[in-house]
Amino acid sequence: MNVVIIGNGPAGNNIASKLDAEGVKVDLYSDEEVSFYSRIRLPSCIGNKDKLYSLCAQNEPSYIHHEAVVAIHRESKTILLADGHSKHYDKLVIATGSNPLVFFNNSGLEGIYTLRNFCDAIKITDDLISPICIMGGGLLGLETALEINKLNHKVTVVQGDAYVLNKQLNEEGAKIVSDKCEERENLDIISNQFAKSVEGDKRIKKLVLQNGTELECNTLILAAGVKPSVALAKGCGLEISKAIVINEYCQTSDKSIYAVGDCAEFNNECPGLLPIALATANVCYNHILGKKIPYVAPTQLPTRFQADDLLVASFGELRGECHSKRVEDRYEAWYIEDKKVAGVILIGSKSHLPLAKASLNKEVEDVNVLLDF
Ligand SMILES: Cc1cc2nc3c(=O)[nH]c(=O)nc-3n(C[C@H](O)[C@H](O)[C@H](O)COP(=O)(O)OP(=O)(O)OC[C@H]3O[C@@H](n4cnc5c(N)ncnc54)[C@H](O)[C@@H]3O)c2cc1C
Repeated sequence: MNVVIIGNGPAGNNIASKLDAEGVKVDLYSDEEVSFYSRIRLPSCIGNKDKLYSLCAQNEPSYIHHEAVVAIHRESKTILLADGHSKHYDKLVIATGSNPLVFFNNSGLEGIYTLRNFCDAIKITDDLISPICIMGGGLLGLETALEINKLNHKVTVVQGDAYVLNKQLNEEGAKIVSDKCEERENLDIISNQFAKSVEGDKRIKKLVLQNGTELECNTLILAAGVKPSVALAKGCGLEISKAIVINEYCQTSDKSIYAVGDCAEFNNECPGLLPIALATANVCYNHILGKKIPYVAPTQLPTRFQADDLLVASFGELRGECHSKRVEDRYEAWYIEDKKVAGVILIGSKSHLPLAKASLNKEVEDVNVLLDF
């Protein structure tokens, strides 16, 4: 059996290494020049090329080929490579990830970047000029802002939603985090405002917001969402909704083609998160080997974020009745639905991490016991 994998992110890489270890013939095609690296660590290495290169794997297995796949031909079970060659597959795994949403790409101005891959991180490192604006106040935008600010750059985060980290926090928690971030010199956060346009001659000079505010801006980093990379799947007629539709074994509408990670959609969900990429990869790997372990979407995905000395953690779903308590910078919010803990926000409350994890989806008699600090 010859398995071909498209994409060297965590999902594709994981399946390839495990199949190779089982003696399965595997070929993985990557359109990135560098070897496998941790994508989620890119923001923490911005500004330091040595650190960025140290993220890349030192030794690369011979089944990885650095060439983009440009088409899938299902009738002949072949993929077409950028150099014009074709490669046959018995089983094909599409693990093409997501692409960042790009704004102002028609402006033709220099100094506007996305941060998705290694190449983006190098380009940003080579060309960081203050003042810097970051569009998007989610995890990626805020973490990137804190890291770039550490390099003594003036940074402004523009968040379209009402508050930062709006997928992980409530308004009160987000305010504590924003205030903590803004204690830093030269770091500002503007919420509830969309960026409307950019101005400049050759390079961006201004970011104009919807309310008319003009921000001086010599570098703009776009961190305002991603969309699943489905072009190859679409081109060969696979079923697509928000992403590539898969069944519980990660098979697409063509049973010899799997889709895993950010580019796959199961039960109308494609959250674009690392634990999901690894969970789908595991199901797919087992199914290729003939082991049927149905995919169950991981729930209660914990999120952690570090705003200087303040640890921020969010678990589960923030729905139901909210019970919260704040003592200075320590804040907790417990969401109770049908007498059970549906979600928890902990800010500056490291000691309650085990309690929050253990309590999720469990019944609580008295929520005040949980809020005892
Ligand atoms: C900076 C950053 C920080 C993040 N932080 C977190 C975090 O803290 N927690 C979390 O859960 N998630 C985080 N994420 C999201 C997480 O990285 C993704 O969910 C995960 O990488 C998805 O893995 P994947 O293998 O599906 O796709 P990807 O990692 O996107 O990999 C897909 C690969 O396929 C390649 N490819 C695409 N098309 C082709 C083609 N035609 N031919 C060949 N190769 C192709 C792409 O270049 C890419 O290398 C972060 C993402 C970024 C960018």
